[in-house]
Amino acid sequence: MMRAVVLVALGITLFGSLENIEAGQFVIVNLDPPNAGLNDPEPVSPVGGNDGTTLGEQRMNVLEAAAARWANFLELTVEIRVGATFEELECDPTSGVLGTAGPNNVAANFTGAPVADTWYTIAQAITLAESDLILADNQHISTRYNVRLDDGDSDCLGGNTWYYGLDDEGPFGTVPLFPVVLHELAHGLGFLTLVDLESGARLETGDGDPLNDAYMLFLRDQEVEKDWPDMTDAERVDSAVNDPNVVWTGPTVDAMSNMVTDPAAFSGGLLRVHAPGEIEDGSSISHWTPDADPPLLMEPARQPGIFDELDLTPALFSDIGWPVNFPGIEIFRDRFEP
Ligand SMILES: [Zn+2]
Repeated sequence: MMRAVVLVALGITLFGSLENIEAGQFVIVNLDPPNAGLNDPEPVSPVGGNDGTTLGEQRMNVLEAAAARWANFLELTVEIRVGATFEELECDPTSGVLGTAGPNNVAANFTGAPVADTWYTIAQAITLAESDLILADNQHISTRYNVRLDDGDSDCLGGNTWYYGLDDEGPFGTVPLFPVVLHELAHGLGFLTLVDLESGARLETGDGDPLNDAYMLFLRDQEVEKDWPDMTDAERVDSAVNDPNVVWTGPTVDAMSNMVTDPAAFSGGLLRVHAPGEIEDGSSISHWTPDADPPLLMEPARQPGIFDELDLTPALFSDIGWPVNFPGIEIFRDRFEP
């Protein structure tokens, strides 16, 4: 149920630098209207290390804590602004969208780009370029969370409500927001392909030239024995629904993927991505296979037992060229602890 949707992917190519900023950090930009969402004034009691006194404050505290956790793993050089809202998202009694996120822009051929003529999310691009290429007040990532959970209405996820604690998963009948934010921010930072999975087309520049994206560089179809950049659009359409044959070839994930013990999660020794027989918009390809066991943060649906662990997500970021710190065992908390 941690389904996610890519919101925006605008093709722009950026060159040069506008200004240099010394320290890097995430800034959560509250885009909710007065008295709603992140501004909800309803008084609440502190919960699980979250000492916000209103619903809005507690929500913001979780977003900021999750962003800070990512900041520990990424060598940020500039400010990354995340526009955030709580909105009514799709929900029914048994499933629903918990959150969504995506990059607001992408860039290619910027200073410090790891691979030429390849799209990177704007957050990764400005980090590598050590320069904010977007004017102030604009956000680099957009993310939304489903406000309907707090209605406690059985029509939405059987009445499950958000848990805003920063300590653990929370009691039965709740969904912890913290791991959902970790998951969504990862999409905004680069855990996604920009390929149109219905057409197989790669995102084009303003001049109409299709470019690879950093994520698809590491996608391979084991059945047809081709990497995604070497395929035609039609071949990518076929591969996008070719479970269980689509895998991640990046060396850092490969070196660490033995934390996943279920052989079903692999094809030809490489960890599979989610490629169900029908395209699931916002889920297909841009997640690990749900067959991974122990479960991973970046599966399409939230798995109980995951709270603050990032498991293979930093490894994938390293593969696509993010500067990543690996502080050891912290990646493998909870169910990965020895
Ligand atoms: Zn997702």
